[in-house]
Amino acid sequence: MKNYDTIFLDRDGTLNPDPGYINRLEDYSFFDFCIPALKKLSDFRFCIVTNQSGISRGLIEIDTLNNIHAFVRNSFIENGLNLLQIYICTDHPDKATEHRKPGLGMFNQASQEYGIDLEQSLMIGDSIADMEAARNIGMDAILVRTGNGAESENHYIDSDFPTAVMDNLEKAADWIVGNETK
Ligand SMILES: [Mg+2]
Repeated sequence: MKNYDTIFLDRDGTLNPDPGYINRLEDYSFFDFCIPALKKLSDFRFCIVTNQSGISRGLIEIDTLNNIHAFVRNSFIENGLNLLQIYICTDHPDKATEHRKPGLGMFNQASQEYGIDLEQSLMIGDSIADMEAARNIGMDAILVRTGNGAESENHYIDSDFPTAVMDNLEKAADWIVGNETK
């Protein structure tokens, strides 16, 4: 198993289906394979880093987002998973700060708050923004084909980045557990 400091997880399209701007707790659910996949990685600590421009677009209520993230946090705790924090960026893309992926703000904040060695960490996500943030940091990255992943994969044809492309989070977990070297 690779010895990553921390595994950074994208949310929409990676942990859960992404119908766009989820604004009801009842509409949020993990992929069926999500929690079992993460439990295979329970030796690691996790951070979720998620762009939520729906807040600045007026499409998502902050209270709803907080309720969804309380559910996510509880689900991790109930399953013995060490979730350090959920970092959200509410920036509109037209007025994005360095906190919006592919910017590094959320990663740098996590590094400062939890003493994370970013270069020895891993990003798992479905979007180009996830992959480019990881590339800019110099961390390993796994692109999953769920969510936007199939589309994102086209962007990296004939590229030696990302580190791996996997069908979903479960396959990504199997890959991590089965790989010895970084
Ligand atoms: Mg995503």
